[in-house]
Parts: sequence; structure tokens; C-alpha cells
Amino acid sequence: MKKISILGATGSIGIQTLDVIRCYKENFQLIGVTANSSVEKIKEIIDEFKPMYVAMNDESSYYQINNYCTEKKYNTEVFVGMEGLKKVASLKEVDTVVTSVVGMIGLEPTLEAIRAGKDIALANKETLVVAGEIVMKEANKYGVKILPVDSEHNAIFQCLQGNKLEELDKIILTASGGPFRGKNNDFLKKVTVEDALKHPNWSMGKKITIDSSTLMNKGLEVIEAYWLFGCSYDDIEVVIHPQSVIHSMVQYKDGSVIAQLGSPDMRLPIQHALSYPMRLKNIAKKLNFYEMNDLSFEKPDIKTFKCLKLAYEAGRAGKLMPCILNAANEACVDLFLNKKITYLQIPEIIEECMRKFDYLKTVTIESILETDTSVRNYIYGKYN
Ligand code: NAD
Ligand code: MG
Repeated sequence: MKKISILGATGSIGIQTLDVIRCYKENFQLIGVTANSSVEKIKEIIDEFKPMYVAMNDESSYYQINNYCTEKKYNTEVFVGMEGLKKVASLKEVDTVVTSVVGMIGLEPTLEAIRAGKDIALANKETLVVAGEIVMKEANKYGVKILPVDSEHNAIFQCLQGNKLEELDKIILTASGGPFRGKNNDFLKKVTVEDALKHPNWSMGKKITIDSSTLMNKGLEVIEAYWLFGCSYDDIEVVIHPQSVIHSMVQYKDGSVIAQLGSPDMRLPIQHALSYPMRLKNIAKKLNFYEMNDLSFEKPDIKTFKCLKLAYEAGRAGKLMPCILNAANEACVDLFLNKKITYLQIPEIIEECMRKFDYLKTVTIESILETDTSVRNYIYGKYN
């Protein structure tokens, strides 16, 4: 029986993780959950799964959940704020922590979980983008596994099994291309929030849906792959594959390509990360090759979708540049969703910040948090 905490249990990945746990009660037990402020969803989770621990980031939500547990005479302990998130990340009862909060807010709880010896089922890619070196070093030091939940990285992880990293030629990250694949700048100028929130293949949280449409999601995934698999940026290639059936591939020195395929359903990589090294029967729809008309591939258009180019640049520059890229992107996506900036301002402002902020300082948790705050303050000050 694997004992699990979910950080960000009320989001798209969190809810799909609950789906997996619900199906395999004999394999997994839910011990702790966290959320920002989704009180009603957390109440439902408490009623169904009776977790021993809950943390709410938002203070008034914490009081509501605390009262609810008292009224219902549940034995659930409720925590608040970042300290609460860290507590649920490091519970002595837990084996694996699913990190499915959105944004670099996941960094500190993820480190706390690693230092408490928990394996990480990692969905929260922003954490690896801003602090990949620190996170991977700590995971190594504490002997914990980082099991990728992101479908591409989960695919690559599977394709690497039983092979030597030294024999790898390149990693091929597939990307759906998002809702604006094939469009030009004239089209993108007029993109509204509603247009950008319509993803062709996946139903996800708002932030990652916008990131998928700008190709920043793929850019963040390139940096995530760099840290997870330790290959150079030259050896990470992005290929647009609109059907999202091939979740990613690796090519070995001899030219052999190994791919992982499956339905576009996040419960597949979530379940793999939770059950690894075992495989369980999946609840997601299986692929039917007779129903598949076409698998197609294209080069990404990085002239139009500049975010992918900026992410490669940030990754190659290293140090605090990925942190600047990520902070700027998180702020820009938020401002775009609140209709304060246009769609095409997203890459413009990110680039402005990459040129403006000093990235050459030593990378520590403090310098990351400091840089993140400075970039956000600058953007909200100028564009809000
Ligand atoms: P989401 O917006 O649906 O859910 C986010 C979760 O984080 C919620 O439970 C929310 O309560 C919590 N949260 C938000 N802000 C918080 C804060 N300040 N403090 C504490 N908790 C907070 O997001 P999602 O789509 O589930 O994505 C989660 C992560 O997984 C992201 O990093 C995303 O890139 C990654 N991911 C998602 C998918 C997907 O299919 N949704 C696929 C691959 C990777
Ligand atoms: Mg992905």
C-alpha cells in the first residue's frame, strides 16, 4: 500500500490523481491534500477520502475547512499557508508526494518533501525550471525518486528503461501545437482569452492551457527534460505532433527510435508514476490503431511562437535566467487572463525581463525567491 499526499488536490492533475486512487484503493491510500482556496472541492475530498491532513494556503479557507471538520467530527488535522503546505509535503506517514500545484509556489514544499525522504510524482514543472539543479541534487542526496507525471517526460522515462544514457542521441519532445498551430502574427494579435483557453486535445488548468497555446509549455518542458534526464539542450528536439498519440520519443546512437504511445489522458502518466515500477490496469481508454487515421509531424514555428525560442535561450544561459523567464511568464499569463495585456505582449514582456534582470548571481533558494519577486513586481507595476 503506497501512502500519498497531493499538493494541489483540487486542480486538473489533482482530481485525476484522485481518480486513480479511487480505482485502486488496495494499492494507494490518500493521507494528505492541499489546495489554495477551493473550499467546496476540498470538502468533497474530505468526505470521500477522509485524509488525515489538509492544508489550505488561503487563511479564510483554512478557517472554513477547520470548522467543517469539527462540525463533521472528522479527525482531520488542518494546516494553513506555506508552512501548512510544507507539513503535508513531509508527513511521516507518506511515501509519495504528488506535486500538482501550479507555478513556482511548489518549489519550497517539493524541497521539503525531498528532504523528508519522499518520492516525488512531479507534475509541477515550474519547480524544476526555476531550481532544477538544487532539486536534482537534493533528490540525489536524500535518495528519492523523481517520477515524471508530465506526459512527455513520463514517456521519455519509460523509453529510457533498460538502456544506457551514454547511448542516447537525442530526446524528441512532442507537442500538440495548441489551438493556434499554423496561425501567423496577424491572427495572434486578435486572440482573446476565450480563444486561448480552448485546447484541442487536453483539458487542463488555465495557466498551462495558455502556456500550451504560446508554446511556453513546451519551452518549460525542454528545461524540465534537461534537468530530469541530464542531456544537453542541443540534444532536446521539439516536434509538433497534433494528435498527441505519441507522448514523446528517444533516439539512440544507432538511429533506433523508441516511442511511448497512448490515449491523451493524464491518468495514464499519473498512474504510471504512482505505481512504478509496477504497472496496473488502466482506467483510461486504450489506443485503437484501426481508428487512427493519421499521425503527422511538423517543425515548430519559433518565429511566430517566440516563447519556445526564449525558453531554449533561458535554459542555455542557465543560472537565474530560467527563473526570470518563469516569473515573467507566470505574471504575464495572469495579466492576460485578467485582460490587462494582449496575447502578443506575453513573449514581448518576457523578453524584456530576460534582457533587464541580472541572471548571473549564484543560484540559491534565496536568490531564486528574490529574483522571482523582483520580476513579478516589475511586471505588475508597469502593466497592471
Ligand atoms: P490547476 O490550476 O488545475 O490546479 C492547481 C492546483 O494548485 C489547485 O489545487 C490549486 O488549489 C493549487 N494552487 C494554486 N495556487 C496555489 C497557491 N498559491 N498555493 C497553494 N496551492 C495553490 O493546474 P493543473 O492544470 O492541475 O496543473 C498543475 C501542475 O501540473 C502545473 O505545474 C502544470 O504545468 C502541471 N501539468 C499539468 C497537466 C494537466 O494536464 N493539467 C499536464 C502536465 C503537467
Ligand atoms: Mg506535458
